[in-house]
Parts: sequence; structure tokens; C-alpha cells
Amino acid sequence: MIKVGITGGIGSGKSTVARIFEVLGIPVFHADDEAKRLIKNDNKLKTGIVKLLGEEAYVNGEYNRNYVASKVFNDSDLLHRLNSLVHPAVAMHFESWVKSKTTPYIIKEAAIAKSKSGIDHLIYVHASREKRVERTLKRDNFRTIEAVLKIIENQQNEADFRALADFVVVNESDLLIPQVLEIHKKLISF
Ligand code: ATP
Repeated sequence: MIKVGITGGIGSGKSTVARIFEVLGIPVFHADDEAKRLIKNDNKLKTGIVKLLGEEAYVNGEYNRNYVASKVFNDSDLLHRLNSLVHPAVAMHFESWVKSKTTPYIIKEAAIAKSKSGIDHLIYVHASREKRVERTLKRDNFRTIEAVLKIIENQQNEADFRALADFVVVNESDLLIPQVLEIHKKLISF
């Protein structure tokens, strides 16, 4: 089974590109959704999070996202430690999900791709910082421009994304479907 990652910064259009692959019948694993689900339901992970961030991380069994966000917002070391708990749990679940699929390839949508471990090909979705800020603010009315810029600052920069990428999708004013079809054709010919 060929595993293909879709990566890119916040608001670049990863989910939009992933949806086009889904329309083509390709299964998509949404790593962020899966992380949210596991944070809510996986007891081992919940225990680790409480140990790291305190009892306030959950209120009446519900994940206290605002509290966690406020804790890690200006503490990149703590954010890294939180990610080190969540990512292995998601990775384990991903491997069993892959085993259940029978298509020529599958897609994994994930904002972070510091290495290509476990992934055969990587698609980088690119959009300018201006477009990403504009689209994110339009989509998420709970975010401020400062918060979006801070997230961008904490994410990989464009050069790092490009260095790892096998395919680049440009989501500026370019059409997405022809770019995705081109990649799909290549992936089914491998
Ligand atoms: P995140 O990292 O925050 O999950 P993402 O990379 O998955 O974001 P999307 O959610 O796909 O990005 O796109 C961000 C927003 O921009 C969405 O509301 C989406 O509908 C919109 N959008 C994406 N591409 C375009 C486009 N080409 N033209 C207009 N709007 C777009």
C-alpha cells in the first residue's frame, strides 16, 4: 500500500485538496481529527496529558482545549512534549487503519511533516501567507490575526516543506482539480 501525505501550513488548503482525493475514491486519514478523537477517548493518552498539564486539562471528562491552548501558547517546549504524547498514539491508529484499505494508495492529511517516516510520497499544499491568513480568519471566527500569525511562525517554513515534498499543489488562484488529477495519475501508475 502506497502511503501519501498531504501537508502544508494552516489554511493552505490541505483539507480542500484531501476532499478532491476522496471524491476520486481514495481513503483519507485526517490526522488532526483522529488526534482530537484519541485525546477525548483514549485513557492512556488522557492520563499522560493530565500528568503533563494538570487535572484542568479535562473538565467533567471533556478536553479543556482553551486551558491547554493557553498553557502551550507561549511554551514551545511544553507544546513539543504534548505532541510527543499525541503523535505516537495517532501513528499507531494510522497503521491499523492502513491495513484495512485496499485502494492503490491512501492519503494522510497532517499539518506536520518534519520527516517522511512512514510515508512514501509527500504532497505540499502551498498558498501565500496572506491568502492563508485571510482564509483562516474567514473560516475560524474564533481566531485573531495575531493568533494565526503566531501559529504560522511556529510551523515549518516554506523551504522546509518544499525540501521534503515530492509534489507541490499551488492553492493561490490556480485550479486545484487538474493539479490533483495529475498527481493521482502518477500515483496509480507507480
Ligand atoms: P488547517 O491547517 O487549518 O486545517 P487546511 O490547510 O486544511 O487548514 P482548508 O481548511 O482546506 O485548509 O482551507 C482553509 C479555508 O480556505 C477553508 O475555509 C477553505 O474552504 C478555504 N479555501 C481553501 N482553498 C480555497 C480556494 N482555492 N479558494 C477559496 N477558498 C479556499
